[in-house]
Amino acid sequence: MTDHPTSPVSQPASTSVGAAGGDVTRLTAAATAAAIAAGELSAVEATQAALERIAKVDDTIHAFLHIDGEGALAAARRVDQRRAAGEALGPLAGVPLALKDVLATRGMPTTCGSRILEGWQAPYDATVVTRLRAADVVLLGKANMDEFAMGSSTENSAYGPTRNPWDTTRIPGGSSGGSAAAVAAFEAPLAIGTDTGGSIRQPAAVCGLVGVKPTYGAVSRYGLVAFSSSLDQAGPLARTVGDAALLHAAIAGHDALDSTSVDVPVPPVVAAAARRDVRGMRVGVVRELSGDGYDPGVRAAFAAAVETLTELGAEIVEVSCPHFTYAMPAYYLIAPSECSSNLARFDAMRFGLRLGDDGQAGAEEVMSRTREAGFGPEVKRRIILGTYALSSGYYDAYYGQAQKVRTLISRDFAAAYEQVDVLISPTTPTPAFPIGAKVDDPVAMYLSDLCTIPSNLAGGPAMSLPVGLADGLPVGLQIMAPTFADDRLYRVGGALEAALDDRRGHPLLDEAPAL
Ligand code: GLN
Repeated sequence: MTDHPTSPVSQPASTSVGAAGGDVTRLTAAATAAAIAAGELSAVEATQAALERIAKVDDTIHAFLHIDGEGALAAARRVDQRRAAGEALGPLAGVPLALKDVLATRGMPTTCGSRILEGWQAPYDATVVTRLRAADVVLLGKANMDEFAMGSSTENSAYGPTRNPWDTTRIPGGSSGGSAAAVAAFEAPLAIGTDTGGSIRQPAAVCGLVGVKPTYGAVSRYGLVAFSSSLDQAGPLARTVGDAALLHAAIAGHDALDSTSVDVPVPPVVAAAARRDVRGMRVGVVRELSGDGYDPGVRAAFAAAVETLTELGAEIVEVSCPHFTYAMPAYYLIAPSECSSNLARFDAMRFGLRLGDDGQAGAEEVMSRTREAGFGPEVKRRIILGTYALSSGYYDAYYGQAQKVRTLISRDFAAAYEQVDVLISPTTPTPAFPIGAKVDDPVAMYLSDLCTIPSNLAGGPAMSLPVGLADGLPVGLQIMAPTFADDRLYRVGGALEAALDDRRGHPLLDEAPAL
């Protein structure tokens, strides 16, 4: 691990307009909203600054698939008018945000990074989008992603890859790589990603951000185009733990439109992020998520963070979760199985692309020509794998066994949480890898999610937060907690972030070197 460079990171996530040197794209979301509420900054100015930044850097970064400048400015004007009229504004009013292109959004395209949905417009808003609009968050546009959220590098987007702002020859992670790159490149202070096996936490880790997968069922999946319904969950990407908490609170909560949404109160994530005290907490280091396969720089940054937690008064315990070893193979049966069923809806009849309908061809042929041209290679691979795993005669041997492994993993978590309050591990085995390095080796690509998949299989919440650099590239630490104890992630994350900031500045670039 190298020391954090001082010049590019001096005041990356400034908390006042003055400290940001007038550059409002450097402000945290909380500071942006506070400045707007105080009348120091208008929502239109904040939005214009984000749009100008996008115009400056997004040709290189390619975080966005669609930019809705007019819609964003109109939303910002409404916030300014409401403020002028003396109305009370919410904690994120006027803050710009990048939305992963897997959430149905009225008035914008929703492509899921796929040709099969090119030009398709959703007739309704996902509940996450409805809640963001209700919170007066300014939607800048739709962020690039791996096709249907299948991937770990955003190279599976049909619209071309996104680049990592820390090093534009490298991947920004995936599948929410556009969302993460937008925040890391200061194009937006906030983004929404989705996480089926790690797709919020892994890009957060490799882009130096905070990313959270909330407890399954805590955030509505209504209008989130389904990849693997029993695993998918939307969540926040931000530059600080406090910003992530504000966004988490804005999108979470019961929704009658999603039958898997759980009717429990949203945990006090914002208060937990501000508490900055972990004295007496028991933190378990997962033995199975460490060792030889991990980059030495990742191991060093992780070890230093564990040391910091000890100094902060947490009790560190080594914990074994023996079945985590089987999480990846189980995931790569369950996720493709569910995807093979979910993606059957793209049949050339209902949504998007329709090829070969010349008046002669039958429905089967139109469907097959459309899918042949509309789906990319990774999506086809998963549909074929999942269809095979679910076929009669193989169902028990593959899908059935994988579901049993899922139960064993949940039991490992339950046993661990009898000893500790949270579990920790590195978020990813390596920092960002070069674009192209793993495109021809799906299994090597799948290994990026080794540490993140167990929480999806068991349903518990998990956070990645930046804890240092390895050869100049960000390293993330993962915190996992029991279901519906999402506040514990923020309590530990907030304390660790504050301690690390005191020591060597916030580990996020101020100005991406190549931009
Ligand atoms: N990289 C994993 C996959 O390809 C996880 C993706 C995700 O979380 N959406 O399935």
